[in-house]
Amino acid sequence: MHDRRDQDQETGNAAPKHRAPAAESDTEAEAVVFVCMTCEVPLTGPLTRLPAVPELPYHAWWDAEEPGPSPPTVPSGRYAVETEPYGAPLVVSEVPAEAMPRYGTISDEHGQYLVSQGPRGNIVINPDDAHGLEYHHASSACCGATPTGGLNQRCACATLVATLCSDCCCPYELHLSADHVRAVLP
Ligand SMILES: [Zn+2]
Ligand SMILES: [Zn+2]
Repeated sequence: MHDRRDQDQETGNAAPKHRAPAAESDTEAEAVVFVCMTCEVPLTGPLTRLPAVPELPYHAWWDAEEPGPSPPTVPSGRYAVETEPYGAPLVVSEVPAEAMPRYGTISDEHGQYLVSQGPRGNIVINPDDAHGLEYHHASSACCGATPTGGLNQRCACATLVATLCSDCCCPYELHLSADHVRAVLP
């Protein structure tokens, strides 16, 4: 969808702009550090933005010898903005639908599908790129964290700032809350 829109815009351009090779624009992309909005402590190193959250890497978690996190959705050193609702609260959906992006379906005890009505605009990063966060149990999981209970990562100042998704059958992602962190220049 995004590609189509970009193309349309380009076709409408009278003077096509010079486009730098991908590798070059990567290094030119402005890196930012995400800090806690409450205490200003840096929660990440410098990260550069991806145009969208990448597709989920294929991972046969049911075949894995040791349960553990999947390969990260977002490569190290990058971030992307989630445009769909994410995390708690989950509400009943009349039609079958994925609970939240890349997560698969969830149904309640009556067999009804549940979908996220959580916040949009989360900053999605590789969980290994975050530091200084403490896990705050918010929903049950077998070996990691799940986003269904909402924010589950606490800054050192005790503010909940992010949602970790790290259980073995889930995408491996950390969602920084757009309402609780902000980007600063390194
Ligand atoms: Zn803080
Ligand atoms: Zn697990």
